Amino acid sequence: MNSVWLLELADVGCRVEWRDSQLFWQILHPAAPGGQTVPALVSDLTADRHPLLWTRLVGVEQTDGSAPRLAVSLEESSGRLRLVRHFELFAGHAFVRTWGTVVATGAGTPPTLDGAAIVQLIAAASHPFTLLHVEQFSWPYPKDFFTPRQIPLVPNLTPYELRMGSFPAHYSAPTSCAWVALREGKADPDPETPGQGAGLVVGIEFNGKSRLRAWATLATVVAESRIDDLAHPVRENEPFELPACFVGGYSGDWDEAGFVTQRFAEAHVHPPMPDDRYPWVQYDSWKYGQAIDEAQQLAVLERCASLGIEVVVLDLGWARAIGDWRPDPAKFPRGLRPLADRAHELGIRFGVHVAVAQMALDAPAALEHPEWLVYPGDDYFGAGAICLGHAPCRQWLIDSLVRLVREEQLDYILQDGEDVVKRCTRADHTHAPGDSNYACSTEGLDRVILAVRQAHPQLVWENCEDGGCMMTYRMARLCHTSITVDNIASYATRQGIYGASYPFSARYSVRYMEDDPTPYTLRSALFGGPLILMQRIGDWNDQQMADTRAALAQYKHLRPLIRQAKIVHLLPPRTNVEHFGRGWDAIQAVSLDQSRSVVMVYRALGGPEQRVLRPRGLRPAATYHVRYTDAGFSVLYTSDQLLQTGLSVALAELGSEVIELELA
Ligand SMILES: [Zn+2]
Repeated sequence: MNSVWLLELADVGCRVEWRDSQLFWQILHPAAPGGQTVPALVSDLTADRHPLLWTRLVGVEQTDGSAPRLAVSLEESSGRLRLVRHFELFAGHAFVRTWGTVVATGAGTPPTLDGAAIVQLIAAASHPFTLLHVEQFSWPYPKDFFTPRQIPLVPNLTPYELRMGSFPAHYSAPTSCAWVALREGKADPDPETPGQGAGLVVGIEFNGKSRLRAWATLATVVAESRIDDLAHPVRENEPFELPACFVGGYSGDWDEAGFVTQRFAEAHVHPPMPDDRYPWVQYDSWKYGQAIDEAQQLAVLERCASLGIEVVVLDLGWARAIGDWRPDPAKFPRGLRPLADRAHELGIRFGVHVAVAQMALDAPAALEHPEWLVYPGDDYFGAGAICLGHAPCRQWLIDSLVRLVREEQLDYILQDGEDVVKRCTRADHTHAPGDSNYACSTEGLDRVILAVRQAHPQLVWENCEDGGCMMTYRMARLCHTSITVDNIASYATRQGIYGASYPFSARYSVRYMEDDPTPYTLRSALFGGPLILMQRIGDWNDQQMADTRAALAQYKHLRPLIRQAKIVHLLPPRTNVEHFGRGWDAIQAVSLDQSRSVVMVYRALGGPEQRVLRPRGLRPAATYHVRYTDAGFSVLYTSDQLLQTGLSVALAELGSEVIELELA
């Protein structure tokens, strides 16, 4: 038996075929290498280490039109499991998204799933062929601040392996954002001469640990992503969710790969931006450490209002304990309401930090349920770790957070902590002993965020996992924004936005500002957002207040442009350098209609006193007003001149310039 179905929309197609007891998928798009991918397995699941065979076609639902969808239902050879595999196309985007569920039929004891592919993708390759990915944040050696890496896929070499999802940034070597771009052609020899080619991008919507391997044969390149450590007994009435992924076609350079991904994610992955001022300017209390109280933070709130700050967040230290999510009665005897109420009077949103998967050993819930702890040592600021895959523990967390948001009138949750997807082998939890990767992510954290956001639809959620880990499109679906390097010096935050703005929108990528405010440190935090001042604002002098006011005015002027722009990576900061950094770096944003653009250029220590930059992505045969904001002059340039001659910039060490371009 075999059957074939075809979804089509404009020039995108997805061909799905059931043959040899498996399901295959193939993407058709003019920009894909060879015009179409090679049919690849999309039903790859194992039980007891044997591939499951899908021998019976149970049903098919296909919807055509402007949002084509296909669902194919297959039954496994023993009759105990059914797979429903979904495929979806999107108007205006050259993307296919697929996901699935596995359910027990009730006929006999269902097997335990011990292997599942999230995606397999095979492209016809004319070599050379290159893969781009971006590392997640990592603290220890080797440190990493979102390095983009180009990997040549050479035929018949050992597969290149990327770990994705929730990993602890304090204990693990760098892991990857859940995105790869593939492209015909060699790796770019330098950042100022980007290569072009037909390519594909892949995004993974799974928060647990997964592994993507990529390799090449003489005729193809293959990318395959699989869930780590799966041991999932399928239970009746509890569908197993096969994580979603999306694949898109593009033609161009790595900036174009990022751009098509970001436009798709803004339309079909992220929650809508919370308002039209987004990304906001925010304050976070961490520079005060845990020594915060009502009077001090009320005073800070007034200063925040005078600066035009739009969100105020109390970081760690506001609660009775980690895992006891009620206000500390010594620091906040009236609870957080006086702060929330005053913030709301001032038109400011108000929120708190929560370490969702940690619990102090003396927190009431830990004393009552010591069995919830998977690690009773110091996992995070003295607190142990809890298992979000254990249903009663997860429900307690949901109830605690829903109550907290209601009682304290919160608008914002900053979700922090160490590696929320714990390895739990306890036999007395509701998940199977070896299944915590799936249980703590898909059945754990994901459900917590969904439940709390469903109870409070206006709540805005920030992923702050370990300074920039778990950078998946599942988090992108659940959260409004995400940290992009932890509390660290200005130069490292520029590295962070430079790398993270390949997979993710600049507006999704939080800029935490740790250095004291100067025109240069503020300027270093202006690209992307939300812009979060992690500062003792109450102690600032008049000069610091004035410098910050000026920078925030510029940020608010530029954010409508940057939040939906194409990001052009002009000149990277050196990777993984802390403190002041070396030489020049530059990043550009271009509006969708190419009528406006901004180039932010920086000089750290060393390097020449003058540098030429060649902005890209502008309208051909057009003339632009070019305005150097700091130097204070404007000139007219044709787009040819901008490409050929470029813009000359002179900067002192630790200097910066903002160059705005507008169609004349
Ligand atoms: Zn557990």
